[in-house]
Amino acid sequence: MSRSVLVTGGNRGIGLAVARRLSAGGDRVAVTYRSGPRPAGLYSVACDVADPHAVDGAFDEVEAAHGPVEVVVASAGVTRDKLVVRMDEQDFTSVIDTNLTGTYRVVRRAARHLMGTGRGRVVIISSTAALSGVSGQVNYAASKAGLIGLARSLARELAPRGVTVNVVAPGLTDTAMSAALSPRQRDRIVGQVPLGRMAEPDEVAAAVEFLASPAASYITGAIVPVDGGMGMGH
Ligand code: NDP
Repeated sequence: MSRSVLVTGGNRGIGLAVARRLSAGGDRVAVTYRSGPRPAGLYSVACDVADPHAVDGAFDEVEAAHGPVEVVVASAGVTRDKLVVRMDEQDFTSVIDTNLTGTYRVVRRAARHLMGTGRGRVVIISSTAALSGVSGQVNYAASKAGLIGLARSLARELAPRGVTVNVVAPGLTDTAMSAALSPRQRDRIVGQVPLGRMAEPDEVAAAVEFLASPAASYITGAIVPVDGGMGMGH
């Protein structure tokens, strides 16, 4: 079964690993890119999720190329880490606007068609930061915690139509986002991970692939940690 899939932030990092997996499984996958590269072999559409018109335009383009979107994976995200005393309003609102409001824009645009499919899938990438909090990430952790409330509310709204909505909460994962941390910061986080290392993007993608699959038809509103055990007990 080939489905029309849209992965936001699918041009690199975790989103790209998800796109590659779903594409290898036979889906018609489109990825968004904003500033970064367009990956070879995948259908790419320009989209800044902070711009509502760009989100609508990207969906129009993907629908014309692949048909209405049946699987949405929201992976676009940014950090702007600062201690709260130095975090100005723009640092806070810009992260919320991309990570949380951006995801709202995407799922809102997708929802009408998803409801008609009877088997649609939404997978949202949150973070362990949503549950544990992280010093220097008041903005990011708030956005990622907000995604859990968004996902669970959406899960209830779409459940009567057979659409599932789930959250994947990765721990530290080896991408450009984690590369921005200092080696000391990375070592400190990895020191708290029972499995003793970062995740590979494909390990996060494997959980997303499962939640997006027909096999996960009775799972909705779940938070699936992919964190090497770091969040155990939260
Ligand atoms: P990367 O920095 O490697 O990739 C971020 C992706 O988000 C890029 O594709 C980027 O597009 C896209 N993006 C950022 N802002 C926008 C925007 N306004 N509109 C559209 N796309 C945008 O990060 P990761 O792959 O690591 O992160 C993916 C998701 O996983 C994020 O939501 C992140 O918060 C989450 N996460 C990551 C963890 C980690 O340790 N890496 C841990 C837990 C969660 P472009 O290239 O065009 O800029």
